[in-house]
Amino acid sequence: MPANFESLALSPALLTVVGELGYTQPTPVQSAAIPVLLAGRNLIGQSKTGSGKTAAFALPILQSIDIDARSPQALILCPTRELCAQVAREVRRLGRRHAGLAVLEIVGGQPIWRQMDALKRGVHMVVGTPGRMIDHLQRGLLETRSIKTVVLDEADRMLDMGFGPDVEKILSELPEPRQTALFSATFPASIETLTRKFLHEALRITIDEPEEASLEIRQLRLAAEPDEKFPALCWSLNEYPHESALIFCNYKTSVFEVAQDLARAGVSAGHLDGDMDQFHRDQMLARFRNESIRVLVATDVAGRGIDVTDLDLVINYELHDQPDVYVHRIGRTGRAGKKGLAISLTTDRDEARLEAIQKLTGTRIESVKRRAGKGPGLKRLLESIARAPRMMTVLISGGRKDKVRPGDILGALTGEAGGLKSADIGKIEIQDRLSYVAVTRGVARHAVQQLNRGRIKGRRFRATLIDTFG
Ligand code: AMP
Repeated sequence: MPANFESLALSPALLTVVGELGYTQPTPVQSAAIPVLLAGRNLIGQSKTGSGKTAAFALPILQSIDIDARSPQALILCPTRELCAQVAREVRRLGRRHAGLAVLEIVGGQPIWRQMDALKRGVHMVVGTPGRMIDHLQRGLLETRSIKTVVLDEADRMLDMGFGPDVEKILSELPEPRQTALFSATFPASIETLTRKFLHEALRITIDEPEEASLEIRQLRLAAEPDEKFPALCWSLNEYPHESALIFCNYKTSVFEVAQDLARAGVSAGHLDGDMDQFHRDQMLARFRNESIRVLVATDVAGRGIDVTDLDLVINYELHDQPDVYVHRIGRTGRAGKKGLAISLTTDRDEARLEAIQKLTGTRIESVKRRAGKGPGLKRLLESIARAPRMMTVLISGGRKDKVRPGDILGALTGEAGGLKSADIGKIEIQDRLSYVAVTRGVARHAVQQLNRGRIKGRRFRATLIDTFG
């Protein structure tokens, strides 16, 4: 396996970007998939989120994109809106040296006319969910003639979510010859049927995930019957220091309760559930990524596609029935070579689930105990974990479509105009029509004032502090 990117026959521009992003070495899925895709072959890849698979397919696509032809040349299908956003973000990051590259997300929950406008102006790549993609295809809004590559990302999830017929319809309507790549964590019969039908002579790559995951992720279990769960959660948060923690629950109601109880006690916590509208989900995720929220409570559906590289703790508030959901959940931590920790709060009734998980992953989950009767009570624990986050998020009413770039926001806040030090400014995330910038708590109000008084690229935008916990 090539140990460096230079041996992968990528263009100088892409090698530069990969270096700038700090990717020193290709991940196993990248070493295996990039040469196959560069050679134009169909690919079936077994790998999961966190393995670097987005870059594995995005780099070869970017290498062959013709920027002058403003027509869709690659189509990427993902199961959820969040995953689409995550993939589009990684593609844009990797494509930063392809001046003029336009990547469009075609997802539900957003006005279709906006996507139509973007398509009319011309895009190079589309990333979308099957449902909305079908809408565009059926209305003849999506020009398919120049599509050369199709990627099915997290194919097993797409089928689980009932997108099978849509995916098949989309694949049947796209022109041949083309290159098709399919990535999936599991290979049930339905996936095999799909590959037989649409991925002729594909090369198969398998990356041994569970083993790899076990090296990077320490897995613990803590016995807690239902009425002891919340104290056990607080104990875990206190006992295992973390910068950001993701807590998974099986039900929306538990998500809401846990997040609310934590937030009430002053813990910087937010929540995500499937019912939230797109704007609030995006906002919550941006705040979690930029460290304005330290603890995020989510259901599996809402938690898919959460793209946070520095996540150091995942807690299973409730274990899921299916062992592969456990693998997905804990795979959010220990990414890209970092150490992670996963703690599961288990009841007596979870024994069979634990057995199934250990069998699937081939690992043992270590048992830890809270010292009964000793140690701080719940009130003291909450006091101990209640800590205001280091950063706060400022929402700015301008984004990529307003030609706002991270450097413009940085410029408006620092130097003579803004008066802030660059050390006070954290992650800057630019979306289509708005941007999020993290600033240290102490200077947050000042930053908002400066942004509202000043201009960005000669234009006035509104800046607001997102100030609430949760
Ligand atoms: P993915 O599996 O595509 O969701 O990627 C997981 C994370 O790893 C993303 O945040 C990527 O930016 C990051 N990543 C991808 N490839 C590499 C690499 N070769 N070295 C370090 N980080 C990487």
